Amino acid sequence: MPFKRFKINGDRLNSTLQETCTSYGALPAPSTGMCRLTLTPSDKAARDWLVSECKSLGCDIKIDQMGNIFAIRPGTAGNKAPIGMGSHMDTQPAGGRYDGILGVQSALEVLRTLHENSIQTYHPIALINWTNEEGARFPGAMMASGVWSTHSSTDLSACHALRDTDKISMATALQETGYLGPTPCDYRENNLSAHFELHIEQGPILERERKEVGIVTSVQGMKWFAIRVTGREGHSGTTPMEGRADALVTAARLITAVRDTAVQTGLGVATVGVISSDTSSQATIPAGVGFVVDVRCDTDDLVDQLSESILRAFDQVIKEEDNATTYSVERTWGLPESKFHPDCIEAVKKAAVGLYPPRLSPLLANFIQPRQLHASTIMSSPAKRKAEKDISPPKPKKTKSTTKAKTEIPAYHLTPSRQDESGENVWPARKEQIERAREIIRDWYIKTHSTD
Ligand SMILES: [Zn+2]
Repeated sequence: MPFKRFKINGDRLNSTLQETCTSYGALPAPSTGMCRLTLTPSDKAARDWLVSECKSLGCDIKIDQMGNIFAIRPGTAGNKAPIGMGSHMDTQPAGGRYDGILGVQSALEVLRTLHENSIQTYHPIALINWTNEEGARFPGAMMASGVWSTHSSTDLSACHALRDTDKISMATALQETGYLGPTPCDYRENNLSAHFELHIEQGPILERERKEVGIVTSVQGMKWFAIRVTGREGHSGTTPMEGRADALVTAARLITAVRDTAVQTGLGVATVGVISSDTSSQATIPAGVGFVVDVRCDTDDLVDQLSESILRAFDQVIKEEDNATTYSVERTWGLPESKFHPDCIEAVKKAAVGLYPPRLSPLLANFIQPRQLHASTIMSSPAKRKAEKDISPPKPKKTKSTTKAKTEIPAYHLTPSRQDESGENVWPARKEQIERAREIIRDWYIKTHSTD
């Protein structure tokens, strides 16, 4: 069987994900959310289940000193480090079912598919479940993968000493769940050739652009700045409005400047999510206010540019306020941009694009009418027959359902996306029309050419 034809079983992936979420750490209905904090009984149950599933697929299990699980399916090459796939099974106290969990479950589905097709890979393949990636129980996101990378400022012993809100240390939690393993948590001693992670997009962009899959090419550069605004305290009833130095009013203007600068420069995103007032008293003019600015951009250089622009805007606000309020800045946390390896990006791209019939894509553009698209018209053209021949996948089985599916190519009638103020129809951009037609043809192609 050519490799191109291998597909995971999406229904099995989803049902396994839903069943295990329901069994291990689901919030009470009607919520469909999760509370599976790391190394709690529900996380232990999910881990135990995962380990036994992976063992049944012929994997060797390694647990490291941070409780990271490496389930390794041997390859034919004796001396190659595994290719890793995975994510995290822990969640926030009210998290979703897909963040992290999907990454581990899809790795398991890949292992199941390899196993049932008796595929031997050259490299070993490792499923990985990283511990406390959410940082919801023990403070510090991406904690255990950070220790493994040796780039975290919180090292192994510091992580082990961290305590949750019940004062239980991470070392104790690892011991009590049976996940304090002997393998060193250090990539130099437990290496990988590559690591892939399937993750839901936690933003609106793919949906807005009507794309199903995006390929992440890097992790943004990030910096946090703790800002301290100081003013002059006074009684809210007896201090006249003129001459006040209200730190909270200045802080409010600075926070607005954070948003405005990010919007105006388009360099990246900037957010204030935390604010505190020293006095927090209704009858006192605030004299000390703190807030944290979170700046994220595609590159470190852009992070610096945006941060400098924000601070320039701050100076302008202070000048305009022209009272005794001032501010100071402390850099508290940051992560440099991290670009993924081009070979890994290319591998994901090839696999994703492989789901589309490649030779049909350029044809689409030639046959699309802006006002009305009709997939059956496109597909019954001579060019389509040639394209089908060119693709020449393994001949579909001549089953009843295949024939039926072929006669049911869905039609796509273009509809206006909205109407403007004068009631005129506004039509989707040509790019969107092409995307929609491509979707229909892709679905049609998969349906008619699948042998299962
Ligand atoms: Zn995640």
